[in-house]
Amino acid sequence: MKQVSLVSLAVLLSCLVSWIGCSRTGGDERVTVNQAEIRRHLEVLSADEMEGRSPGTTGGNKAAAYIAEQFSAFGLEPVVNGGYLQPVPMVGTTVVGEPEVDLQSGSQAVSLRWMEDVVLAAGPAPADVSLEWPGVPVVFAGYGIVDPSTGWNDYAGTDVKDKVVLVFVNDPPSDDPSFFGGRALTYFGRWTYKIEEAARQGAAGTLIIHNTEMAGYPWSVVQTSWSGEQFYLPDQGNEQTSFAGWISQAAAQRLFESEGLDWETALKQAGAEGFQARPLRCRLTGGLEAKVRSIESPNVLGVARGGNPESADEYIVVTSHYDHLGVGPAVDGDGIYNGALDNASGTALLLELARLASARRNELGRSVLFAAVTAEEQGLLGSRYLAENPPVPVEQLVANVNFDSINVWGETEDIVAMGAEKSSLEAVVQEVLSEMGLQRSPDAFPEKGHFFRSDHFSFVRRGIPAVYYDYGLQFRNQPPDWGKRLMETYVDKHYHQPSDEYDPEWSLEGAVQFGEVVWRTLVRIADVPERPQWKPGEPDASGIVLETGR
Ligand SMILES: [Zn+2]
Repeated sequence: MKQVSLVSLAVLLSCLVSWIGCSRTGGDERVTVNQAEIRRHLEVLSADEMEGRSPGTTGGNKAAAYIAEQFSAFGLEPVVNGGYLQPVPMVGTTVVGEPEVDLQSGSQAVSLRWMEDVVLAAGPAPADVSLEWPGVPVVFAGYGIVDPSTGWNDYAGTDVKDKVVLVFVNDPPSDDPSFFGGRALTYFGRWTYKIEEAARQGAAGTLIIHNTEMAGYPWSVVQTSWSGEQFYLPDQGNEQTSFAGWISQAAAQRLFESEGLDWETALKQAGAEGFQARPLRCRLTGGLEAKVRSIESPNVLGVARGGNPESADEYIVVTSHYDHLGVGPAVDGDGIYNGALDNASGTALLLELARLASARRNELGRSVLFAAVTAEEQGLLGSRYLAENPPVPVEQLVANVNFDSINVWGETEDIVAMGAEKSSLEAVVQEVLSEMGLQRSPDAFPEKGHFFRSDHFSFVRRGIPAVYYDYGLQFRNQPPDWGKRLMETYVDKHYHQPSDEYDPEWSLEGAVQFGEVVWRTLVRIADVPERPQWKPGEPDASGIVLETGR
């Protein structure tokens, strides 16, 4: 109780201070990123009552309503027909029961245990799906890549129409940055690309081979992410095969052996220049039934209006996703996937920045569109819908600043600004970081392809310059490798698991520092006379099909 009354006193005081400030300057620079506010939102959004914030569920809608309420309380402008919610239409498919799936080679079968060895989902469809596989041919297509810029074509001379394509996740390994990005993952390595390319080739299904190192996460993440309802935008049908999913490394090894191949050889062949897709002896048998429904889940949008009449109709979009995985298979008796770090934390900061931007909008030239987006976990669907259906003409979106999972472990010496180097946003980021005495660190895990795994990518695909902020791992007063080990433990134990829960011990000093970086970035982008521009040759088109509206 005592604490509560202190907090309300502080709120009252800050209101008073902000009112005095407002009357003088039209805004108050003393309103700063506030730790208690971030914690307040974080507690609400990660609570069990939010049921893991899955799109189209009561919990998901509750979270959206909470965010909208906050936007309204902060005085953000509603921009969707007078409201804050932008409904995103989606198709959800859920596999019924535990399908029987086998790979049959003559009288021999590589039997696949559902969930242990294989997880499949149905693509978008207008009605319930019933797929039967009387023996569908399977083609091993290596990494499943077609790169017109280099002529690399894993499908050259091979017809995969109506067949199943078996592909490795990731792109061919190398230390040469000019060969599929070297150690870094290119878009060709993402599983989303594998399915898109297989669909372009006319394949019926995509089977992606998992390996923890190559995927960047363990098999358990595949299980939890793929076993529940899968969502798509309704018009995504042409870039999906009718079913897609993963097989475990162990199952793939058994399959390769039955074909007289071994894991290492298969990998080596797939990564070598001139690889050719290879029809396998085995056939896919079994089938799959899936329920299909249409749902809507909202993006939550609100605008802090910029003060410069020349540029107030240009918008910087700030994104962070509020959805998570909902309720799923229980682990240690807990079936609620709270997604506290991923991404109640980022949403909490987005809300706090919205409050700040509204209170200090006199410092903004351009306007800032705050967007808590939905269905990120389902393939960046909410942000994609927003980028394709913005509440203002797409030409008026000048930049995107995105973050996903913020720092809850203390202040750092560094910050990661993914993709900034691709555009004039790099100079802005550099100025902000030097002003704050922070280093810019490269992504500590370039092999994981983070640049393609968060919502800014939806804007990049539309040709809009973007920066994806992530915290650095050089934590103040900690040994140099402390942060990296922390992240590895998180990905191993808690990422996309019910144990991603709010911990009152989380220290939010780092969140405040991170928020300050984003805020200063917004102020600067809002003020630069020229709208942000791509650098020549960017965005690097490796595998990215740009859907530029401009
Ligand atoms: Zn996330």
